[in-house]
Amino acid sequence: MAKLDAFSEILQTNVPTANLTWLRLGGPVEFLARPRSEKELSGLLKACQFDGLDVRVIGDGSAILVPDVGAPGLAIQLSEPAFTEIKIDGTSVVAGAGAKLGRLVTSTASAGLSGLEGLIGVPGTVGGAVVANASTTDVSLGQWVESVRVATYDGKTSDLSQDELVFGYRSSNLDVAIVLSVTFRLEPDDAEELTKRLQKIWIVREQSRPDLAEGEGFARVFKNPRGQRAAELVDEAGFRGARIGGATICDANPNLIQTSRECSSDDVRRLIALIQKQARERIGVELESELTVW
Ligand SMILES: Cc1cc2nc3c(=O)[nH]c(=O)nc-3n(C[C@H](O)[C@H](O)[C@H](O)COP(=O)(O)OP(=O)(O)OC[C@H]3O[C@@H](n4cnc5c(N)ncnc54)[C@H](O)[C@@H]3O)c2cc1C
Repeated sequence: MAKLDAFSEILQTNVPTANLTWLRLGGPVEFLARPRSEKELSGLLKACQFDGLDVRVIGDGSAILVPDVGAPGLAIQLSEPAFTEIKIDGTSVVAGAGAKLGRLVTSTASAGLSGLEGLIGVPGTVGGAVVANASTTDVSLGQWVESVRVATYDGKTSDLSQDELVFGYRSSNLDVAIVLSVTFRLEPDDAEELTKRLQKIWIVREQSRPDLAEGEGFARVFKNPRGQRAAELVDEAGFRGARIGGATICDANPNLIQTSRECSSDDVRRLIALIQKQARERIGVELESELTVW
């Protein structure tokens, strides 16, 4: 009997990933589990190692592209309460990896803590955002991180201090582990002022999002190459409004791909590959996708 069978209470099989990702497409993942404690997560990881199963983590699914054939192995989502709590104590904030980034930003601002407000409107969970060092023009999440609690894929847990962490542009050295929680050190500020600032940034970000009908999805596609904006480069390469099958480059923001109900994962993959090729040939720029492809 496979070791994973011992986790049948929290295990789902052949789960459609369209409901788990912002692109709203992709085939099923073989197994999905939402562990209820660190101990259960460790056991699950050890069972997968024993059974030789691939393990993936899914946060809010805002930056994941799943192939049409689906994905083998186990996907773990840290959405149970043990992984979504946000605790504020003075200027120290401990956030579970499964907590939404937006909730972290609004709750720290209303507690009179400044630092993260520039990230309002950036989708994702705390775990996904810290691994990618989510950033905007004025802030990157990593600059506020004090320590990170992680599990390695063999089920062992540990705490990484600031000097063990490396953050780069949309990258970190955490992409080889599962982030369980993150401790931030923020700065005291006026809660009312912070909330007003949040509202202003939020309104601007919301305006660049496409209006979606039922079953449609979207995602951000490319990292900004050094000193340049990916949206402007996609436009310059002639791809504003371009379409392959059910995947379309948004008119309002050419760094977003919008997907129709009929869109396949392959449509998205082909559109990205075509833009990368043309950007290289027409304007001499390498565009790197920020989507994780399963
Ligand atoms: C409309 C839109 C706007 C965006 N704007 C920005 C922006 O301004 N700045 C920016 O930086 N990003 C932006 N992004 C990208 C996205 O918001 C970030 O990459 C986000 O942090 C991903 O978080 P997630 O929880 O959705 O991760 P997912 O999409 O679920 O996963 C992405 C990757 O992170 C890994 N991961 C997720 N959780 C964990 C965990 N707990 N431990 C280890 N690995 C984990 C996954 O395995 C996967 O490899 C935008 C995306 C969209 C759709």
